[in-house]
Amino acid sequence: MPQMVSFFNATGGAASAAVALIEFTKNPGQALLVTLLGLVVGSIAFSGSMVAYGKLDGKVGDIFAKFMTYLNLFFMLLIVVIILLVLFGGFDQITVSYLVYGLLVLSLIYGVSFVMPIGGADMPVVISLLNSLTGIAAAMAGFIYQNEAMILGGILVGAAGTILTLQMCKAMNRSLINVIIGAFGGGGASHADVQGSIKEITLSDAAVLLSYSQKVVIIPGYGLAVAQAQHIAHELDSLLESKGVEVKYAIHPVAGRMPGHMNVLLAEADVPYEQLVEMDDINPDMPNVDVAIVVGANDVVNPAAYDDPGSPIYGMPIIDAHLAKNIIIMKRGMGKGYAGIENFLFFNDKTRMLFGDAKKSITSLVNEIKSM
Ligand code: NDP
Repeated sequence: MPQMVSFFNATGGAASAAVALIEFTKNPGQALLVTLLGLVVGSIAFSGSMVAYGKLDGKVGDIFAKFMTYLNLFFMLLIVVIILLVLFGGFDQITVSYLVYGLLVLSLIYGVSFVMPIGGADMPVVISLLNSLTGIAAAMAGFIYQNEAMILGGILVGAAGTILTLQMCKAMNRSLINVIIGAFGGGGASHADVQGSIKEITLSDAAVLLSYSQKVVIIPGYGLAVAQAQHIAHELDSLLESKGVEVKYAIHPVAGRMPGHMNVLLAEADVPYEQLVEMDDINPDMPNVDVAIVVGANDVVNPAAYDDPGSPIYGMPIIDAHLAKNIIIMKRGMGKGYAGIENFLFFNDKTRMLFGDAKKSITSLVNEIKSM
């Protein structure tokens, strides 16, 4: 799904850029500023979203070098200079056409070089930014055609995307300017020393622990979405609540692969909205939680965000699962999360691993609790 969202976003950008290019060819002097902006923004949204698609699909890796920051700044400057030359340079039509085609190529390259270095936990910000760019490009196309529906639709998408981008930046502890010049993210995995060992928990021990708890928090992540374990998770929370256990879901803003991914999944499974608690609201209560069940989440509970300055997720707010009295982690094996780094939490003294596909594990757990 996230890959498809990126792909659709790319097609939106491409369509707007194509509209701008066709209109420029047909009516070279008309609505020149919006035509140029539509071309630039649409092309950046297209090539950037295609790279994002490749990254989400695991086909494109992060390529980061310090000079790319300067290269991106240079591209941005060049784009502005060419736009000014086309608008105010007083060149003949043939030269203007060359400049416009140059602008198209440059914008496509900038889209690639702008998204390429961004990786690890920073992708949600860039996906949301690209989404808002597609909206802006569509609005520009609307101005070219004097089409109010396109203008309104584009502005809505652009504005909503911008608000979401700013919210994401806040959640990821990044500044927007860093996003735009592509100066963050990437970086290799953390080499911090991991201490402690992996300890497993049996189904019956997990069932007893949960049934005799007062407060349980389920922390869903990407693995829950992959396993489609949202319905059975809701069955687990209802079962525990029927035994008098208070169950909440801790929602991290970038859990999964799409902004709002967990809210959408859990709403689909009819989990009552009051049970979903945002990260900032649940964290102060985590030390009082008897069991934190981490279902297919990894980066969003990784304490390296606090402890390891060398980590690519350092500074990102996380759900404080490590503060709970007991931690059960459901995942298939020792696979890494999106950021590709080790997770200290798995080696914590309070942590017990329940290995297996999340849906299968929760189903077995539900059956175990029922048979108690
Ligand atoms: P992560 O990607 O960090 O980890 C997911 C974990 O799920 C893996 O470690 C994997 O371990 C496990 N898993 C995979 N399949 C299953 C399965 N069938 N059953 C059980 N477990 C499974 O997920 P988080 O949600 O914690 O973090 C999201 C990450 O994605 C963040 O880094 C975020 O920045 C990034 N991101 C978020 C976007 C957004 O908009 N929300 C967009 C793009 C990226 P194992 O293989 O061992 O099972």
